[in-house]
Amino acid sequence: MSTETTQSRPGVLAPGGIWRNWGRSASSNPTWVARPTTVGEVVDIVKWAGATGLTVKTVGAGHSFTPIAATDGVLLDLGWIEGVVAVDEALGQVTLGAGTNLHQLPDILRPYGLALANMGDIDRQTIAGAISTGTHGTGAGFGGLATQVVGMTLVIGDGSILRVTETKNAELLPAVRLGLGALGVIVDVTLQCVPAYLLSAVERPENLDAVLAEFEQRSTAVDHFEFYWWPHTDAVSTKSNTRLAGDAERAPLHPVGEWWEDRLLSNGALSLMCAVGRIAPSATPAINRLATKLVGNRDFTDYSHRVFVSPRTVRFREMEYAIPRASVPAALRDIRTLIENRGWRISFPIEVRVAAADANWLSTAHGRDAGYIAVHRHYRDDPEEYFRAVEQIMRGYGGRPHWGKLHYQDAGSLAPLYPHFADFVAVRDRLDPGRVFANPYLTRVLGA
Ligand SMILES: Cc1cc2nc3c(=O)[nH]c(=O)nc-3n(C[C@H](O)[C@H](O)[C@H](O)COP(=O)(O)OP(=O)(O)OC[C@H]3O[C@@H](n4cnc5c(N)ncnc54)[C@H](O)[C@@H]3O)c2cc1C
Repeated sequence: MSTETTQSRPGVLAPGGIWRNWGRSASSNPTWVARPTTVGEVVDIVKWAGATGLTVKTVGAGHSFTPIAATDGVLLDLGWIEGVVAVDEALGQVTLGAGTNLHQLPDILRPYGLALANMGDIDRQTIAGAISTGTHGTGAGFGGLATQVVGMTLVIGDGSILRVTETKNAELLPAVRLGLGALGVIVDVTLQCVPAYLLSAVERPENLDAVLAEFEQRSTAVDHFEFYWWPHTDAVSTKSNTRLAGDAERAPLHPVGEWWEDRLLSNGALSLMCAVGRIAPSATPAINRLATKLVGNRDFTDYSHRVFVSPRTVRFREMEYAIPRASVPAALRDIRTLIENRGWRISFPIEVRVAAADANWLSTAHGRDAGYIAVHRHYRDDPEEYFRAVEQIMRGYGGRPHWGKLHYQDAGSLAPLYPHFADFVAVRDRLDPGRVFANPYLTRVLGA
């Protein structure tokens, strides 16, 4: 492909090198890499790439398991376009550079007495990357991160700047909030925040069948409910988090206890379990039973972000499906039967979460209250046979795959799952008719 054009090459471009994601499930070899520091430089890069026939892909923190951020064209890293752009204290809205990492937010929001309404398990992602794939936490009354977006600025396919808010180009909001990186380069994001709050966390070992029997009630009885089921056991670790006022009394974990459970047991022991499971798979059930006795029996109260987020140091690969919330018990029982029948040895716990229905067109919770079931495998283990079989079960319940986690579907099977799929594609045709932001993954899931 020729890179000669009448437009001179933006100085911010440097020759590319190998790029890999966190889960080591995707890699690419971009021709160029750019770390722009201004929106003007982003515009120049998009225009130049469009003129030369190269594609542009913005990469966040590389925490998607799918190759959604992979490119052999221009890899755009917005790590320098980060931090606070504007704050509307009266409305509780904060505009952030798109490359801002979620872990920066507590410090950014604290002076304004604000916090994110909900968060996922980790905070390594960028805000633009997280919303673009539909990153979510848990809570029957709460949507994913993209539902907290009230505005954004994008550089679209022809290099022009597009502002979308609740009053300007508002019809595009349900598409651009969760746009898979297909609609443009997001340069800033405006979030609706909430007054800072604490979470009272109750973590308990419980019985799987008992929790499934009352799943609907359990998942709506507290603000944020989730559980992990350890395959080959009847045990689950439940987490029930209740929101408290920001000035409520904190009772944080003792640093040693936190290190012992979150670092050593949850990560170090998990790593060891995976290694042992690979050498002696028959030991996995016993190891899982031991794990259920060691973790997940504690109470504490802390700042919301300190409760939502946990360290993840064991590298893994993940698939996660959203199904109607009421179908979770039946689907999980099917997965248990599957694992028993196939005789697999699964070291990683299976994670179950919930979220409120929302209106974003490609949200996995679009139009229905969602229950999420996530399966994992160590990154050195081939996940395909397990993930494909679980996917078949989840598809039987009308499952929608997380856009940033492994799955085996394409546009043909995904389109019927989303009432506004064609509307989304029409917006893509409008904002990126030349497919400057395309890559093979987007072609697979959205079409050419
Ligand atoms: C350990 C771990 C834990 C996780 N926990 C959760 C969880 O609790 N809940 C959950 O839902 N998911 C979770 N995920 C998945 C993760 O949140 C998503 O995959 C998320 O998209 C990653 O964000 P990122 O910044 O790394 O984006 P990347 O993976 O780098 O990119 C994702 C997409 O966003 C696009 N993008 C990035 N920046 C821009 C921009 N400025 N403009 C336009 N497009 C852009 C990329 O092109 C790509 O399409 C987890 C992943 C890992 C590895």
